[in-house]
Amino acid sequence: MTAMSTTRIVVDCPAWCSVSQSEHLRELHWEGHTTHWSDSRSGEGWEIRHTASTLADGTPGEPARLYVSTLGGGLTLAGAEALALTLLATYEEASD
Ligand SMILES: [Zn+2]
Repeated sequence: MTAMSTTRIVVDCPAWCSVSQSEHLRELHWEGHTTHWSDSRSGEGWEIRHTASTLADGTPGEPARLYVSTLGGGLTLAGAEALALTLLATYEEASD
């Protein structure tokens, strides 16, 4: 068994990432990649978050993904408009 490198790894997070370094390092250790999660943006009956991922060697992993969840029961028109505008803003942030 070879000695583990003691080089300090720092995960380079996008500005919007809400995950701690220790959580990223734990994920890298166990899974070989880590996921950056944005804070959620939510409105009446919906919530949006987005992700990007980084591999253990620091290169980008999976392409960005957006997660949109809605409660049952449908959205009001105002809620749907807010969701649409927020989804667009989230898309722009995720595709930077
Ligand atoms: Zn991150």
